[in-house]
Amino acid sequence: MTGDMRLEGVPGRHWHALEDGRVQCDVCPRYCKLREGQRGLCFVRGRQDNQIVLTTYGRSSGFCIDPIEKKPLNHYLPGTPVLSFGTAGCNLTCKFCQNWDISKAREMDRLMDAASPDEIVDAAIAGGARSIAYTYNDPVIFLEYAVDVARAARARGIRNVAVTAGYIAPAAREELFRWMNAANVDLKGFTETFYKRLCTAQLGAVLETLEYLKRETTVWFEITTLLIPGHNDRPQEVGALCDWVMTRLGPDVPLHFTAFHPDYKMLDTPHTPRRTLTTARDIALAAGLRYVYTGNVDDELGQSTYCPNCGARVIGRDWYEITAWNLTRDGRCHACGAGVAGVFEARPGVWGQRRAPIRIGSKHDRTLAP
Ligand code: SF4
Repeated sequence: MTGDMRLEGVPGRHWHALEDGRVQCDVCPRYCKLREGQRGLCFVRGRQDNQIVLTTYGRSSGFCIDPIEKKPLNHYLPGTPVLSFGTAGCNLTCKFCQNWDISKAREMDRLMDAASPDEIVDAAIAGGARSIAYTYNDPVIFLEYAVDVARAARARGIRNVAVTAGYIAPAAREELFRWMNAANVDLKGFTETFYKRLCTAQLGAVLETLEYLKRETTVWFEITTLLIPGHNDRPQEVGALCDWVMTRLGPDVPLHFTAFHPDYKMLDTPHTPRRTLTTARDIALAAGLRYVYTGNVDDELGQSTYCPNCGARVIGRDWYEITAWNLTRDGRCHACGAGVAGVFEARPGVWGQRRAPIRIGSKHDRTLAP
């Protein structure tokens, strides 16, 4: 926790005062206990005037319209465009962070686009996006902003997607996911040691979020595991992860194994070999999971979707591009009629691989209030 000059921000909704005079942030399982002027570990929440404030409300690290497959979500409105944005900071400290320029940002506030919820929804509609994704860092730490945007989006028929590490406390979790239609949750490894040593976090809290999504919500969710050579790619660990998903979440939750590239504090760790990803996929399929994917590598076979009944390829994919579509109008296999889990429409979208950065709001330090 760090001290600071006066913190400008909007009041947070999840915190309480402690008897010893500190104020505890209740957004994530770190439960930072702060004195006046201190910031929490995520750096974007801090205590000002005896309450917790969010200093990044209305401030984005940039907007882009992407394919939904890039989140990654393979079973949620395939082929459709999604307006993506994030803010700055993060509540995890992953040494392998692949977005560290955003997640570790300290001085971005003044450089970022200022955008109100309505402006973001206007841009999503103008750009033809079907959904808005709260991504790049993690909607957990910009919860109040994400929820206000999501609320405005829902009112105008735009759906909401969270891309998150799932490291969130119970009440905040309920608030965030109430407004989400879909999510991709990072399951970064499957040992407490991995989470503790590389992310200073706890695996158990992430598993709780996954079970919560399954048990208590109708949010469509998929899981991503970045396989890092020598750290979480042992077949036994991958097998334990897959068995847990199968037992606790069921066979229909899609699982993505993606390739690590050397980044941030792990520049000496090599790229993930393609073979590691295909082996992990084989392990997951053998465990009974029906929809398992490889990502960040050339592997059309491992990126396509297959009928869980007859094995026919129902959606062909090459990276983020849909190359074949063999689903009926109601999401069934054309060959045998078996249902395929997911949220599908009669036809796939045609956005393709495009990535279209857009500008919203203005590049100055305009302050937005909810
Ligand atoms: S969101 Fe998490 S890391 Fe940030 S201040 Fe709150 S408890 Fe601390």
